[in-house]
Amino acid sequence: MVFTLSVEPTQTNSQRSLGRVLVVEDEELIRETVALSLRDEGFEVIAAEDGRMIVDLFHQQDDGSDRSLDSIDAIILDLMLPSINGLDLCRWLRQKGQTVPILILSAKGSETDRVVGLEVGADDYLTKPFGVRELVARVRALLRRNRYPIPPSNPSVLRIKDITLFPQECRVIVRDQEINLSPKEFRLLELFMNHPRRVWSRDQLIERIWEADFMGDTKTVDVHIRWLREKIELDPSHPEYLLTVRGFGYRFS
Ligand code: CA
Repeated sequence: MVFTLSVEPTQTNSQRSLGRVLVVEDEELIRETVALSLRDEGFEVIAAEDGRMIVDLFHQQDDGSDRSLDSIDAIILDLMLPSINGLDLCRWLRQKGQTVPILILSAKGSETDRVVGLEVGADDYLTKPFGVRELVARVRALLRRNRYPIPPSNPSVLRIKDITLFPQECRVIVRDQEINLSPKEFRLLELFMNHPRRVWSRDQLIERIWEADFMGDTKTVDVHIRWLREKIELDPSHPEYLLTVRGFGYRFS
């Protein structure tokens, strides 16, 4: 194994952890210093010297393992890492619909690097050398911002390619961006994503989405589909998600 895994002993209820933080940093001195400081403050820390730990944890999600990425409350991520670089990891996690807060650590301090870090979906950015107190304060802030997260393990979260839909929160993320949908558009998308590949006729969609308050004709469905495409498709005139099935209706793929 290339990475090291060090986890604090299980804590009792009286000293409950403030959160579980994954620290990915190849420089041992920095990694150990950060891990120690966070543990002193009451965080549980998983320390890794390689980004592959993140990929491994991500893949453990389906097993319901308590060592999966779902159990992580925040990630502190170095940019210059062996094998997979931090920016690529960050971008990859966001593409997978992961909302775990990420703080990037880097020796690179230029404005450009900072902007790129935030653009790939990091929540915060700290330049080396940094004070551990500032780091701890920022981790606390990250966790406060994320105090009421929908657990990504929630089976009702729908994720297809670059679209993630959170039914209980009525939120939709498309290519890392949150989009605004009307209630009808949201329910349409939710229905489609719940039944990928199923073909829906316009009448079936009216029955499911509009119910008794339906006032228009089947063209109303087409109009809503067009609006939805404009919000979710990269190229609405050549849809990749919401496809027309000629003579039948629509399907989501
Ligand atoms: Ca490094």
